[in-house]
Amino acid sequence: MNVIKKIKINSFRLISQKKNNFNIYMEKVLTTRQKYYQDNKDAIIERSKMRYNCNKEQILNQKKQYYIKNREAKIEYQKNYYKLPEKQKQNIIGVWKRRGLISDDYDALYDKYINTDKCELCECEMTRGKGLIGKKHMDHNHETGEFRNVLCGACNIKLKDIK
Ligand SMILES: [Zn+2]
Repeated sequence: MNVIKKIKINSFRLISQKKNNFNIYMEKVLTTRQKYYQDNKDAIIERSKMRYNCNKEQILNQKKQYYIKNREAKIEYQKNYYKLPEKQKQNIIGVWKRRGLISDDYDALYDKYINTDKCELCECEMTRGKGLIGKKHMDHNHETGEFRNVLCGACNIKLKDIK
């Protein structure tokens, strides 16, 4: 057998021996700890209760801080989550459905909604968002749910008054 091979095999053995020793050692530590816990259970619980009572304020404060920090991170995540274009689309289509707008191709309707920047009646400039004046509205037949036009809020109201 050549020397390098021999060294490799030996070092491999050494490593696995070390691993093995480590596992045996850890097992011992864990069983010792378990045994110690079982033997001193009441005292340990009592001690941790005492520690808790002595540092109650600090511990509660830490928990509170953690909660606040966590909540802020969560809100930030949700804010960004709903900013995703795909989420916005789902949201807007959801609102249409709740308002009784029925379509067999909501994707196409959404494309039209996104790409229509002028009111199809008065031709004023429109943007997306909440509100009336200069905001996009999906004019639809409230009885059949059928879509008619993308209108500005003012025109949408006017049409409702005529009907
Ligand atoms: Zn208009």
